[in-house]
Amino acid sequence: MTEARYRVVIRCPECGEKYILRGRQKENGEYETGFKQCVCGNVQHLHIDAAPES
Ligand SMILES: [Zn+2]
Repeated sequence: MTEARYRVVIRCPECGEKYILRGRQKENGEYETGFKQCVCGNVQHLHIDAAPES
């Protein structure tokens, strides 16, 4: 079984920062990207979009 890799875009509505990361999807549906928090300190209110890498 091959693990799909995802391109994950995380946007912070608090300060407008945007992060483009790569990761895989965990069993609980969350994305494992290593992202901890935004530079502004916001960690809870984030917009996350993910698409499979081609
Ligand atoms: Zn921010």
